[in-house]
Amino acid sequence: MKKSVIGFTAIIFLLESVVCIASSDITYRVNVEKENPTIAKVSADVLTLGNFVIEPPQASNLSTSHTKLNVICQAGKGKNISIQFGVPIQCKSIHWNIKFKKLSHTNFEASSLQNIYSPIGWWVLHEQDSLPRISGNHSIYVCVTKNNCNKLPENISGNSGPPVFMVWGKKTGVIKIHNFKINIFSDKELLYSKIPSIKEELEKQYSYLSAVFLSDKQQITWSLVWIAIDQKYNHLSGAAGANAYITNYLVDNGRLTDRTLPWLLRVSAHETVHVLSKYTLPTWINESLAEYYAFKTLTLSNIETRDPIQEWLKRKSAISHASSGLYHANRMVSEQHDMSFYPLFYLKGAALWQELDIALNEEGKNLDQYIRLLNKDDSHDPTINQSFIQSMVRELGSGLWESISSKYL
Ligand SMILES: [Zn+2]
Repeated sequence: MKKSVIGFTAIIFLLESVVCIASSDITYRVNVEKENPTIAKVSADVLTLGNFVIEPPQASNLSTSHTKLNVICQAGKGKNISIQFGVPIQCKSIHWNIKFKKLSHTNFEASSLQNIYSPIGWWVLHEQDSLPRISGNHSIYVCVTKNNCNKLPENISGNSGPPVFMVWGKKTGVIKIHNFKINIFSDKELLYSKIPSIKEELEKQYSYLSAVFLSDKQQITWSLVWIAIDQKYNHLSGAAGANAYITNYLVDNGRLTDRTLPWLLRVSAHETVHVLSKYTLPTWINESLAEYYAFKTLTLSNIETRDPIQEWLKRKSAISHASSGLYHANRMVSEQHDMSFYPLFYLKGAALWQELDIALNEEGKNLDQYIRLLNKDDSHDPTINQSFIQSMVRELGSGLWESISSKYL
């Protein structure tokens, strides 16, 4: 099989907080009827808004004219009008339908951001293509049940945080570890027998990573969605959103393979770093540390996984911008929105941290002790803090630091 592709569609998690909906807030109520589980009806009372303007939802990669929403305004006296995005209107309520893809074959790509319905009895709703915004500073909550509501991020420029991503229905299981509660939704029974060993590994991941990333989170609840993909499709991916992430696990003709669990645990560890870390970091550091610590966590459990330095050396001739430094790559992503530089964060970035960690090990130290020095006041500045650099120079000598940093930064 060719290289697997891991494409995370969102960078940082928003943590679940206690949702208090004020009477002036708008609530999108999502309703699915049992007889028709692939269609959800969404409605909201908007009378208090007076004149308002509806903006289209964020677009997914799969957006087409067919995915365009038809939002209906109920203007009173049974009068229904199709709303035009961007044009002011007054309504009593608005409503529209959302489609869900029914999971059937093992070919679903987790990063595709499609809304899905599993015949087991659960649903995943992505904000993209499904949830329009209302112009102005309105707080909008999306509720799939009375106790499962999420606030839409207020900034619609696309950089306001991870998209809303809701999961509800019949859980496959619940894992409770310290202050974590993880609701698991799985597409098949395949992984059921593995849950005890997955739980044991997740427990190790959390204890280790919360110490390194100094988590002070009181209580974290998140949903984890596992969907099988056959390895013949060469595409293993994941997507993270607010309070949830969805990931593929590999199967071969309907069976688990030797690589199923290592990959699942690696993706979990990567996301866990995002959830736990309380540091402010530029995107390249955020992603590369998550990737490096996903690797490191697995090696601590003696699980075989690919080595970031080897992976970088193997793949650098085939990927774009391999000779770009990570600071430049970060600027290209954050300022020019050129996502073709993004894979460097995972590959080149993770290799940098591994190289530093190995060099520190030679001195009887390790990278974990210095992570806090990477914390920044401003995440837009891609450079590594002087305090971290000074520590590396002190431990490794300026010659070695220079040689490593010039190779990667
Ligand atoms: Zn990530």
